[in-house]
Amino acid sequence: MKNLHPAVVIAAFFIAFSCSSPEKNASVEEVLIQRIDSLNKLGFDITDYHAHLKGGLTMEQLLEHSEKTGISYGVAVNGGIGFPVQNDTALSAYYRSVMHYPVFHGLQGEGREWYSLFSPDSIALFDYAFTDAMTFTDAKGNRNRLWIKEETWVEDPQEFMDYLVVQIETILANEKVDIYVNPTFLPDTLKLMYHELWTPERIKRVVTALKENNIAMEINSRLKLPSAEFIKMAKDAGVKFTMGTNNTDAELGYLEYGLNMINECKLLPEDFWKCEK
Ligand SMILES: [Zn+2]
Repeated sequence: MKNLHPAVVIAAFFIAFSCSSPEKNASVEEVLIQRIDSLNKLGFDITDYHAHLKGGLTMEQLLEHSEKTGISYGVAVNGGIGFPVQNDTALSAYYRSVMHYPVFHGLQGEGREWYSLFSPDSIALFDYAFTDAMTFTDAKGNRNRLWIKEETWVEDPQEFMDYLVVQIETILANEKVDIYVNPTFLPDTLKLMYHELWTPERIKRVVTALKENNIAMEINSRLKLPSAEFIKMAKDAGVKFTMGTNNTDAELGYLEYGLNMINECKLLPEDFWKCEK
């Protein structure tokens, strides 16, 4: 196996995996843990860079889950207006409270103001920073938060998409982040039109912005985003990926969608971003 190209070894693994029936009585979780173990052995270094200590989840419980599943973790604090951490003092206090834990430490910038709330030195305490494009102010001055029905304004889906793509391009160009997370998220009213609204032209613009700004794209397992079509176009352009959950409660899961996308989009270990600690 030593002299084979990694792509050949990985292709063989996928064929073997899809042909072999999981051990009798193995639970879904056990099968996923087996897949994670196999991928780690192939050099993937399976890491969830988008975990939060939410729903009462403690760092100790997260580390137990990591031990059980073979998933490494990046744990992020949410920083921004309306969040417990919204200034340098709170940000560095949080960092000092978790810095000794053996995980990557992340900062999730919330809203577009986050970048002016924290000093570069405070942001630099963290191993990495990321943001999404789910909060922005529209042309009429409404502050949109796309995951909240009452705070989302869509008059015309096509106009909304054109505006959203510009927002994503602007965020990626101006906010110095390592990863674009919850990528291509659409409000509930547009979800059924996802494939129609994310046209190849719009995908290409986001992919170009990621590549030009050297920002990785998350494959989000809770939201099952972005689509395989999006991932394939990003891979072809040389964009790097991360895997993430963005848990809203104490359930961290098993990165199932991300594992499926590795297979479906034929991703290799070198397609993934790695945190330089
Ligand atoms: Zn998050």
